[in-house]
Amino acid sequence: MRNRKILIPFFISILLISLLYFHYERHRVKSVGDVRLMLGTVVEITVLGEDEEELLRAVNAAFDRMAEIEAVADRYTGDSEISRMNRTAADGPVFVSDDMIEMLLMAGALSERTEGAFDITIAQLLDLWGFTNEPRLPAPEEIEALLSSVCHSCVVVDDENMTVYYDAPDLSVDLGGIAKGYAVDEAVKVLKSLSVTSAVINAGGDMAVVGKKGDVPWRIGIQHPRDSQELIAVLDIADRSVVTSGDYERFFFTDGVRYHHIIDPRTGYPAGMTMSVTVVTDNTAVADALATAYFVMGPEKALETARRADGIDILVVDSDGNLTHTDGLSSILTLMR
Ligand code: AMP
Ligand code: MG
Repeated sequence: MRNRKILIPFFISILLISLLYFHYERHRVKSVGDVRLMLGTVVEITVLGEDEEELLRAVNAAFDRMAEIEAVADRYTGDSEISRMNRTAADGPVFVSDDMIEMLLMAGALSERTEGAFDITIAQLLDLWGFTNEPRLPAPEEIEALLSSVCHSCVVVDDENMTVYYDAPDLSVDLGGIAKGYAVDEAVKVLKSLSVTSAVINAGGDMAVVGKKGDVPWRIGIQHPRDSQELIAVLDIADRSVVTSGDYERFFFTDGVRYHHIIDPRTGYPAGMTMSVTVVTDNTAVADALATAYFVMGPEKALETARRADGIDILVVDSDGNLTHTDGLSSILTLMR
């Protein structure tokens, strides 16, 4: 009898502790993530929340959506939508997907907005430089011969009939300067539709963060353009996109000169003057294209243009390694040197 008197409170306590533990465990914030190779880069998605199974489902669904965009925009697989379009759109209008229409309309608008610094019709020039397979320094005549093939206004998009027509015989488009950003935005939409409120997506320097990391902003490191192990700055952000374009992503050296994959559409040569540009705004596709365009413009024009734009902040490292940023970043940026 006495034993029972002692044992009952004991078991009740054990039960209460277990219940508390299970309650705590169910509501504890967990982090679920995955890393995959896609869109020609390493894509990492991390989500925070309480239900691990739901989080994992959301991560997989976001990757599935990004894979759909890769199948549209990857110029290096023969059966992608862009490859088919590049082969046939000069012969007459071809039917394309919603994603293709969206990306082409955005790209066209961004070419106008950047006075041609961003131009997806540089595909043939990129092939000449061979950055994705065998990089080489082309002869000036080869570059000169292809400059006339650059013509963003020759891409005729009919969004009512869902068709694209190339109004020039030698036109070819490359979505490498916008597709990663677009894919990140689409992945964010998928995560939000599955009730994710805290996440970070990084597609090789094209990043978006959803919400905060618990009670504090996400901390995003900006890589040093000459030392991949070092950061030049850290940004504290919530619900924003951060995209960096740099001359260190794809490059080769000939006679001590660095030739990289960001081409000035007016000269056909890799743009000088800049080492990296980071754009902070609320749309990753726009940030992606603007980072490329600002890189082409060079620091001075890039800063002047960004200061005049609404809701755009940038951090530029010029070719001497000097760092400048717009005022909007002052309160969220920590410089590391
Ligand atoms: P990012 O990786 O965003 O810096 O963009 C570089 C990629 O965009 C290159 O690998 C090309 O596919 C493409 N690209 C390079 N130069 C330009 C340009 N001036 N306009 C549009 N796309 C470009
Ligand atoms: Mg870009």
